[in-house]
Amino acid sequence: MNSLAEIGRVLRANQRFAILSHVRPDGDALGSQLALGLSLEQLGKEVAIWNEDGMLDKYSFMAGAERLSRPPSEPQDFDVAVALDTATQNRLGTAAAAIRTAKTWVNIDHHPSNPRYGDLVFIDPVAPATGQILFDLMCAAEMPVDPAIAENLFVAISTDTGSFQYPNTTARTFEIGAELIRRGANVGRLSQLLYESYPLRRVELLRDLLSTMRIAAHGQVASFSLSLELAAKLGVKPEDNEGLIDHLRAIHGVVVAVFFEELLEGKVRVSMRSKSDAADVCAICERFGGGGHKLAAGARVRGTLPEVEQRVLAAICDVIDCNS
Ligand code: AMP
Ligand code: MN
Ligand code: MN
Repeated sequence: MNSLAEIGRVLRANQRFAILSHVRPDGDALGSQLALGLSLEQLGKEVAIWNEDGMLDKYSFMAGAERLSRPPSEPQDFDVAVALDTATQNRLGTAAAAIRTAKTWVNIDHHPSNPRYGDLVFIDPVAPATGQILFDLMCAAEMPVDPAIAENLFVAISTDTGSFQYPNTTARTFEIGAELIRRGANVGRLSQLLYESYPLRRVELLRDLLSTMRIAAHGQVASFSLSLELAAKLGVKPEDNEGLIDHLRAIHGVVVAVFFEELLEGKVRVSMRSKSDAADVCAICERFGGGGHKLAAGARVRGTLPEVEQRVLAAICDVIDCNS
């Protein structure tokens, strides 16, 4: 692993950058990309900020959002390509294919399952968000953190910590949050945009998902499922369901929450959350070719919705004591 100071020196010494993150991006992916991209631009660098899915509508309020786009079909050359918040290289999707050459690949992430790909690597599995690592990087390398960058880092950290609530939230997370507020992040405004501006169809989706809710293992496992048919009926976008799983995790007694989403290509996206270190959902998802964190993980599993539900719920029962 490399130090943040070392990575900072390489960032300062080069000129052309591609800043990438994972498919189906979340607030940490997008906020981290924009924060690093804007900071490098202020240092006079040429910066491309690409993501397979481009900017999502619901995050389009973020400062500099117009700078983030889908990758071009014609690959380009860079000095440095940076992968942020991306547990495996293939989760960069089409963004990776748009890099014809990069002298140096940098991998900055907080997923314990990250296999440490790239030339310069900084993985902190204890950091609650990639945005928190970037704040430390920007301090170590004396990079600009203006109000726009502070806002993006705040969004990254707030969304990956469930608004500073999850167990990975530490005193340091609050200290960085406070520093970002001092540097111009407006908590009330950002929280309203993030958590109180959902489209109505997201709540309609929640209503229908709750009617598919299944409770197993004597109340320790809760799941619900989104079929392609229901998604089409409600006209939902993939981004609409981010966070809905928290309603299952919030149930008293539930240890593992699972969200099954039928995908077009004969696969099911499985999203898992745990409330106990004893139920490591990353390990369960790794059995299905996925990964993530101990308490939040995912996988894409081939099969029909009922098949995948049955296999995944059985695998959870292998791990937690379903008879107690
Ligand atoms: P999600 O449930 O999609 O919000 O993802 C929860 C966590 O699991 C995130 O940290 C993701 O990076 C990780 N994750 C989700 N899907 C996959 C996958 N197919 N492979 C590896 N990691 C994943
Ligand atoms: Mn992410
Ligand atoms: Mn993250």
